[in-house]
Amino acid sequence: MDCIFCRIAAGEIPCSKVYETDEVLAFRDLNPQAPIHVLIIPKRHIASLQALTAADDELLGKLFLAAREIAKQLGVDETGYRIVSNVGEAAGQSVKHLHLHFISGKTLKWDN
Ligand code: AMP
Repeated sequence: MDCIFCRIAAGEIPCSKVYETDEVLAFRDLNPQAPIHVLIIPKRHIASLQALTAADDELLGKLFLAAREIAKQLGVDETGYRIVSNVGEAAGQSVKHLHLHFISGKTLKWDN
């Protein structure tokens, strides 16, 4: 298995876990871009949002519901947060396993 997020999901590489269900895992980004920077991933390998199929609709909902729970857990459900998913080269996707960036803890600008 050469996918780093699959290895994290399998427990082979440690992570700073913030949320977990049977299908979804969330952990702190190693290189945070804000005081709170969490990655939300499906445990099953899916290369990116572009690789989703109609059969993944429930899983996709679970990824966003995870974000809602994480926001409550980290105390930013009222102040706010941003969800971003980089898809492909032009967006700078560096890990080819679908992930939502959950970013919060400061006032975020919108500049690119
Ligand atoms: P992207 O560039 O959108 O593909 O995001 C990949 C993210 O994964 C980057 O923000 C990296 O800092 C993060 N990352 C890579 N390896 C790890 C790791 N082992 N644990 C936590 N975050 C990681």
